[in-house]
Parts: sequence; structure tokens; C-alpha cells
Amino acid sequence: MAKFLDLDELSDDERMLKEEVHRFAKEVIRPASIELDRMPPEERIKPDSPYFEVVKQMKKLGYHKMLLPEDMGGLGLSPLQISIVFEELAWGSLGFATSLGVDMIPFSCAALFGLPELYEEVVVPWLEDDKGKYHGCWCVTEPAHGSDYELFLRDENVDKYGKPDITAEKDGDEWVITGQKSAWVSSAPVATHGGVHVPIKGAKRLSDAIFCIVPLDEKHGVKKGKPSDMLGMRDDPQGELFFDNVRIPEHYVVVAPGPFYGIFCDQLVCMTSCGMGAYGVGLARAAFEEALNYARQRVQGGEPLIKHKNIKLKLYEMFEKIETARYYVRKVSEHVFSRMTRRTNDASPRHAKTAQIYGKRIAFEVAHEALQIFGAYGLSKEFIIEKLFRDARCMIIEDFTLEVLGLEVAADVIDNYEKDYYDVEHINRLYSG
Ligand SMILES: Cc1cc2nc3c(=O)[nH]c(=O)nc-3n(C[C@H](O)[C@H](O)[C@H](O)COP(=O)(O)OP(=O)(O)OC[C@H]3O[C@@H](n4cnc5c(N)ncnc54)[C@H](O)[C@@H]3O)c2cc1C
Repeated sequence: MAKFLDLDELSDDERMLKEEVHRFAKEVIRPASIELDRMPPEERIKPDSPYFEVVKQMKKLGYHKMLLPEDMGGLGLSPLQISIVFEELAWGSLGFATSLGVDMIPFSCAALFGLPELYEEVVVPWLEDDKGKYHGCWCVTEPAHGSDYELFLRDENVDKYGKPDITAEKDGDEWVITGQKSAWVSSAPVATHGGVHVPIKGAKRLSDAIFCIVPLDEKHGVKKGKPSDMLGMRDDPQGELFFDNVRIPEHYVVVAPGPFYGIFCDQLVCMTSCGMGAYGVGLARAAFEEALNYARQRVQGGEPLIKHKNIKLKLYEMFEKIETARYYVRKVSEHVFSRMTRRTNDASPRHAKTAQIYGKRIAFEVAHEALQIFGAYGLSKEFIIEKLFRDARCMIIEDFTLEVLGLEVAADVIDNYEKDYYDVEHINRLYSG
């Protein structure tokens, strides 16, 4: 394993965890991800696809339980341990790291924010799953609303956004959901449950909404679109979901309409941002290591590439980006995950989103420079660097674009810089209006 500074800083337990996950990423995840990357989308979701074997092994290792404290049946990992697992998995494959991330969202949110009946009915079987029977996905964006779903959180004038493509209506003690989510929902083609954001029927704003758990079951009215054929992240399938009068019981609603919905969305994005930031570090490290090894071997101008000054500087800049991003992401993860376990709902979105932006940006920059070091070989399928580059390109759109996340942080900093880093009152004011 590469000699980054963190190896000196980790305790024996943390180092062992890092080595265990790295071994799994190298021996199991990476070979399967390369195979999946080259398969047509429909083949990737057939029962004999290598995707399911990797997911099964991940479940056996219990990584899906890592966000939850032990008293909720989770692994009770520390924020640093969570960050280590995310980084190592993404070193192996951004697609599989994303697959695990979106699997955890509905069930972990149900455990942390939902009712005890929902925990018993849905979360417990998922926690106990060691065969890959259950798989979650996070259904946010819609055909007509991508970035809107990030921007609505602080925009006082969301009426201009137009109608949602999906709505929910209360009918007795059930909710009825109709509409669709975008073709980009990660893991949707293979998921059994969605954590779905649904505006309520007739609502003026996207934020008058519920967050609920929906079993993605055809007999209850859910249809899945074909898996999308994307440039990168092909090792985790993305696809549309259609909801035709899908009925869910009241207790499947994790967050009801009202002021808490905005706070919940902020806190959820804080958690996903820590994941994305660590994924960025892992992907950047994978690209850096490929470039370093290649530059040691490739001879041009009579000597290995590493002897040329421009290559040395490129490698230094990559190293600098990875080291600094890792430290910022870990610091923010400590802030966010410790608050998540205590359920104080006051983690700082501006810092969490900055960690996400920084991790994703350096992943793209490092993968871009790493490919340049390979010359034309970097463009051929012979080397993994072209896959890492395509994945990094997708990453700066996945989970909201760098630009829109940046605009959100800017708005928060400009309006609230002198206040506490999380202004609950401001969000309450927006959502009670
Ligand atoms: C690999 C991958 C995985 C994904 N996984 C999921 C998932 O699991 N669940 C899910 O729900 N979605 C998922 N998405 C969707 C993703 O969140 C959206 O693609 C992203 O938020 C951007 O939305 P959009 O594609 O509709 O682009 P648009 O919102 O149409 O944006 C187009 C361009 O305009 C810019 N822009 C948009 N609005 C503004 C504005 N108001 N001001 C300035 N600039 C603006 C954007 O930065 C972008 O460059 C995934 C996407 C990818 C690529």
C-alpha cells in the first residue's frame, strides 16, 4: 500500500481495517468493476452478472451497517473508520462505492429518523442480510428537476421551478405516489427499496415534500426503466423509476411535510457529502498510483518519465491534492458523523459540501493529469486509467454538480457567515412559510 502520511497516524485497529478493505477492493471489487465496465447495460443486471457476487460479499462483510451505531444494529464505526472504508472502496471502484452508499441511504435514514415499526419491518431484515437480498437507492432527481433539488433548500423563490414530476397524496392512513424519478438514479435497476423524496400533491414548492421508503415492487405499481448507458460509473447501474398509484403505509414516511424536512435534507446531504469527498480521495489515489507506476517504467528521451521535471511536478501536485483533500474530508467527517450518532441535526452543510466539492474536484484533476502522463496509452482500454478518468468525469455531475454545490455554499456563506455554521432558524423560517 502507498506510503501516505495517514499510515503513520492510524491506530492498529484502523490500519487493520484499512488493509482489510483495501485487499477486498483490490482482489474482488476492481476485477469485477473492469468486467462490468465493458458489458452492455442489460447484461450488467442479469442474475449471473458479477455485480451481484460483489454485492453479496460486501453484505457478508457487513459494510452496509457502518453508518449506524451499535445500539441500532450497526457496526458503530468511528468517523475516521467510516472515511477509511469509503476511501478504500472508491480506490477499487467508484461505482461499487456508490452502490454501497445509496444502499445505505433509505435504511440508515429509516433507522435514524423513522418510527420503530419501520425499523422492525424494513431495517432489521436489511441489517441481517448477508446474501444481497435487499438493496437501497436514493431517489431525488426527476426528468425536469436535477439541480433544482439542491437549490430549493435555500431559495426563497422556488415557485418559479415549476411542477414536480412526482407527487404524493394522503388517502386515509396511506400515501399514494404517482410520477417518476430521473434515469440517473444509482442502483435503481437492481434496488429493492427506494428512499424517495416526493413533493405533496398541489404543493407550491419542491420542498413541501415527504421522504419515504418505497418497496420497488412491480406488483405494487413500481416499474423500472432500462439501465442507462453512461460514459462512466458503468459498474453501478443507473435507471429510471416509474410510480403508478403506489401505496405505502403511513409509517413508511420517514420525514413528514413541515419545517423538519429542510433540516433533514441538509443533514442527509452532509452525510452524502462526506462519502463523496472520501470517494474523490480514493479515486484520485488510484489514478495517482497508476501514473506513478507508469512514469517509473516508460522511457522517453532516454530516461524514465519520472526523471523529467514536468512529470515530477505533476506527480507532486497530485500528491498534494490527495493529502490535503483527505485531511479536510476526514475533519469534516468527524464533525458530521459524530453529530449524526448523537442526532443533534446541526452538522454544517457549508463545510460538508465543501468537502464534497474539493474531493470530487481533485479526483477529476488528478485523473486528468494521470491520463496525460500515459500519453496515448492512457486512452486505450489496455490500462485502467481511462476508466478512472471516465468515472471521475461522471463524479463531478453525480450527487449535484460542482457548480451548483459551489453556488449553494456561496449563498450560505454570504448570507450567514457571521452566524453559527448551521442556522436552523433560517431553515425553519423558510419551511414554515
Ligand atoms: C453517475 C451519476 C449518478 C447519479 N446518481 C443519482 C442518484 O443516485 N439519485 C438521484 O436522484 N440522482 C442521481 N444522479 C443525478 C444527479 O444528481 C444530477 O445529474 C445532477 O444533480 C445534475 O442534474 P441534471 O443532470 O438534471 O443537470 P441540470 O440540473 O439540468 O444542470 C445542467 C447544467 O446547468 C448547471 N445549472 C443548473 N441549474 C443551475 C442554476 N440554477 N444556476 C447555475 N447553473 C445551473 C449545472 O451545474 C449543469 O452544469 C446521478 C447522476 C450521475 C451522473
